[in-house]
Amino acid sequence: MTATEARVYTPGEFKEFDAAGETFLYLVPAGAIFQLDETSRLVLDLVKQGMPHDQLVAALTEKGYSIGDAEEIVHELHMSRAIISADTKPEPVAEPPADFPLMTLVLNLTNQCNLSCQYCYEFGEDKVATPEGKPKFMDYETAKQSIDYLLASSGERETVHVTFFGGETLMNFPLLKQVVTYANETAAAQGRSIDFSLTTNATLLTPQIVEFLSENKIGVTVSMDGPPELHDKLRVFANGKGSYDIIAPRVRALIANHKTRPITCRVTLTNGVTDVVRIYRHLKDELGFHEIGFAPVTTSPDRLYAINEPGMHGVLKQFHILADEWLEYALRGEMHGFSNVSDTMAELYQGVNKSHPCGAGLGLVGVGPSGDIAPCHRFVDSDTHVLGHISTGMDKEKQQDFLGRGHINTKYDCHTCFARPLCAGGCHHEAYVRYGDTGHPNLHYCDWIREWTETCLKIYGTVSAKNPAFLEQFAERKAL
Ligand code: SF4
Ligand code: SF4
Repeated sequence: MTATEARVYTPGEFKEFDAAGETFLYLVPAGAIFQLDETSRLVLDLVKQGMPHDQLVAALTEKGYSIGDAEEIVHELHMSRAIISADTKPEPVAEPPADFPLMTLVLNLTNQCNLSCQYCYEFGEDKVATPEGKPKFMDYETAKQSIDYLLASSGERETVHVTFFGGETLMNFPLLKQVVTYANETAAAQGRSIDFSLTTNATLLTPQIVEFLSENKIGVTVSMDGPPELHDKLRVFANGKGSYDIIAPRVRALIANHKTRPITCRVTLTNGVTDVVRIYRHLKDELGFHEIGFAPVTTSPDRLYAINEPGMHGVLKQFHILADEWLEYALRGEMHGFSNVSDTMAELYQGVNKSHPCGAGLGLVGVGPSGDIAPCHRFVDSDTHVLGHISTGMDKEKQQDFLGRGHINTKYDCHTCFARPLCAGGCHHEAYVRYGDTGHPNLHYCDWIREWTETCLKIYGTVSAKNPAFLEQFAERKAL
C-alpha cells in the first residue's frame, strides 16, 4: 500500500455553520468559506470515523464515482484543509513585508476640540495622549511633509488615502483646504491620485465648507450618537449643554448638498446609549445618513459610561435585529445601511486572514500636529507610542516592535479561536487602555465577537446561496 493510500485524516480547523438549508465550513487557517455538498459531507463524516484514504476512495466509488473522481474529491478537501493529515504543514499567517507600502495617512490637523464628550479617548479619563508642550494646530509645512512622506512611502500604489482627523478637524479647515490643493497637485505630477475623507462632529459645518467637501469629493463621517435624548447624554459642550440642536440642521444640510460621496455616521455606544435600533432609525430614516456604524466605547470597565456585560448582551440582541434586516435587503438586491454587517461581508468576501487586527503602523499611520508619527489617529500625541517623525521618517525598530507585539502569532489565547482571521485580537488602542499593552488580545469581549462573527457567517452563507451576485460589490470595499 502506498503512503497516500494509508494516509489517515482528521477534520481540519473550521467552524461549521448552516445557512439557507446548506452546510458551510469557515476554514479558519485560510479565512475561506467552503460550501459542503452531499459528497464532501460524506467524506467528512467518514474522516471523523477514522477512515483512511484508500477506504474513503472505495466508499466514493461505491456511490458511483470513478476512482479518478474519488481521488480528486479527497484531494480537494485535503488541499483546502477541511481534512488534514500528519504531513499537513501548518498554514502560515502571511507576514506583511518589512517595507509594506503605506496606503492611508490620518492627519490630525489639530488636537483641539470645541466639544467635551466625556468618553473621548483624546481628552477623557482614558486618554493616552500627552499633548502638553506640543503644537495645538498642525502647520502647513508639517502637512506638506506628511503628504510627501505618504507619497514616498506608498510604493507603486496609484491611489492613496488621506483622512483628516482631530480633535475637531474643522477647527483647522483653512489648513485642510491648503492640504487638498497641495496633495492633488503633488500626486498628479507623479501620475497618481489621492482619495480624501474626514471625520467631524459637524458643529462647524457651513454651506461653504459643505460646498468645498462636495466639490473635492471628500468623504465625510460624522460622529453622532442618535436622537437628542441619547446624543446629548455625553456629546456635550464644555458647559455641559448637549450638541444635538447645533448638529442636526448642519447634518441635514450636509446630506442634502454633498452630492459626490455617501455621508456616513459613527456611533459610540455607552452605558445608557445602547438602543441600537432606535439610534439607527433616527440617523438613517430621520436624518438620512447613508450608512451607520456602531462601536462600544473604548474604556476601562469601571467608568460610569462603560457598558457592562448585560448591556453588551443587549447590544448584540439589537445588532441581530438590524442584521436580519440587512439580510432581507440583500436578498432583494438592496444595500442596508448597517455598516457593521457590510464591513464584515467585505472581509469575508475578500477572504481576509489578518496577521494584525487593522492597518495601524503598517498600511496606515497617524500624524499629529507636531509631525510625530503614531500607529493610528488614536495614538497621536502620545509620547509612549511615537513611531517616528514626519521629517525623519519611520523609526523601523519601533515599528517592528509595535507590529511584532500585535502579531496574531504572539496572541496565544487566539490560536484556537475561529474568529481570529477577522479579529486578530482586536484594536491595539483598546488593548492598551484595558491591559496596558497594545499587543494584548482583547479577551474581555471574545464571546461577543464570536457570536457576532457566526451571525455574519450565516448571513454570508445565505446570500451566497440565494443571491450570490449581490456579494460581488464587496470586492473593493474597505472598512474605515
Ligand atoms: S481576541 Fe478573542 S475573539 Fe478575538 S481572536 Fe482572540 S480569542 Fe478570538
Ligand atoms: S482598530 Fe484601533 S488600533 Fe486599529 S486603527 Fe482603529 S483605533 Fe487604531
